Amino acid sequence: MNWDAEVDVVVVGGGGGGLVAALTAAEAGLEVALFEKTEFLLGNTAASAGMIPACNTRFQKSLEIDDSIETMTQDILKKNHFESDPKQVSALANVSGPLVEWLNDSLKIEMSVVTEFKYPGHSNFRMHAPPSRSGLELMRLLKRNALNHENLYILYQSDLEEILLDEAGEVLGISINTPDGLQLIRGRKVILATNGFGGNTKMVQEYIPEIADALYFGYEANTGKGIEAGKNIGAATTHLTAYQGHAAVNENTGLLVTWGTIMMGGFYINIEGNRFGNEAHGYSEFAKEVLNQPEQYGYIIYDEEIHNQLLTIEDYKQLTEMEAFKKADSIETLAELIEVDVKNLANTFGKFSNQTDGTADEFDRTSFAKKLTNPLYAIKVCPALFHTQGGLQINEQAQVLTAEGTPFQHLYAVGGCATGVSGKQAYGYMSGNGLLAAMGFGRIAGLHAVNQLEQIKRGI
Ligand SMILES: Cc1cc2nc3c(=O)[nH]c(=O)nc-3n(C[C@H](O)[C@H](O)[C@H](O)COP(=O)(O)OP(=O)(O)OC[C@H]3O[C@@H](n4cnc5c(N)ncnc54)[C@H](O)[C@@H]3O)c2cc1C
Repeated sequence: MNWDAEVDVVVVGGGGGGLVAALTAAEAGLEVALFEKTEFLLGNTAASAGMIPACNTRFQKSLEIDDSIETMTQDILKKNHFESDPKQVSALANVSGPLVEWLNDSLKIEMSVVTEFKYPGHSNFRMHAPPSRSGLELMRLLKRNALNHENLYILYQSDLEEILLDEAGEVLGISINTPDGLQLIRGRKVILATNGFGGNTKMVQEYIPEIADALYFGYEANTGKGIEAGKNIGAATTHLTAYQGHAAVNENTGLLVTWGTIMMGGFYINIEGNRFGNEAHGYSEFAKEVLNQPEQYGYIIYDEEIHNQLLTIEDYKQLTEMEAFKKADSIETLAELIEVDVKNLANTFGKFSNQTDGTADEFDRTSFAKKLTNPLYAIKVCPALFHTQGGLQINEQAQVLTAEGTPFQHLYAVGGCATGVSGKQAYGYMSGNGLLAAMGFGRIAGLHAVNQLEQIKRGI
């Protein structure tokens, strides 16, 4: 083949997973080329809350949080009804602590534990995030690190075409559409980090029709190209029905409303003022439930104490600046302000207020962190698809597998491009699984590639 360029590692996709993989390989001195379809290094990662779940970190230890790889593995598996590969879940739990400490120590991205609230299914406080709790900050700092490496080349407006193989079926590199035309790039290792197919309406309708009506709140460029290119060379795919939904996007501002509003003691109503499900199961599966309600949107009701505690979260602070919510001194006035039936909402509020923490209500919700007190808040929210969680089947080293289950020695997939650890359905998504699978497998793939190339160099 007539190669246009040859490098040690080719990374396709410049989101969180791609940048972590690229930085890991570049830090070890390898020549890395990262190809990004758009003009920016943003991806879904920049839209995220930047919260990475990790256990056994020194940040947890300094707060006397007693977490373990086993507890984190079990939490993820319980949430996905044990549908995901336990070896992969355990590999991610294993790498999570070192990953967060590497981000902090080596890349100088300040990390701290989010202690305001626990997400559904998390036994411990284990979300780690930059100070603003914003994925945009995370991506800005990852990019700053990437630009400091002379051996890491970033090429924008480059859209993956194909994965190239030799006659024996081993991966040699990629072909990619660049502003200079189609280029053939030789990579001794190729890492796919192109996320899933949330931005591809046809694929969403085909694989996940239940969420096809919802707003897509992820990165438009994520159209499933990495998955398609993998399939074309005989890679296996699994769990294409899995996705991260979210029931709480404020469409007027285009901002995410943190599920902390619920976990700290709030509740979700439809436009008739009625609750209709167990919000505490998780925001992902609740998205589908909201789509079954009249007009397909609703409101989260919470109070000022919760509001004040959430002001540490960048998106929430912005919602406050934009006055995205209504506030009132009684539930009746709040109902009038949001034009919901006063009697219904007062009745719902009365019932909800009578619940005791630990005792199941009519929807089987048992966690009621506090009694809501005046002044009360209401924010309008709608369901959305954030990203898809099924993709190319990989092993615990993030190597892509063939339909027969054997790994392609030189091909990895990380993040939304690979099968994640969220099982087969929306209910399997536990908060943090997205960045964990992207950055955790990004780190694993990067380290594995470095290790293998070093072994080849030493003739092992
Ligand atoms: C609003 C929101 C909030 C979220 N909050 C969290 C959170 O707090 N914690 C968490 O764990 N998860 C969260 N998630 C999920 C998380 O953002 C994703 O799972 C994660 O960012 C995926 O990372 P990635 O690197 O796989 O993909 P991305 O960050 O989406 O990066 C993929 C990149 O690949 C590029 N690309 C696509 N196709 C091609 C192609 N053909 N050729 C070249 N490049 C291509 C894209 O342009 C993009 O830059 C959130 C998601 C959303 C939408």
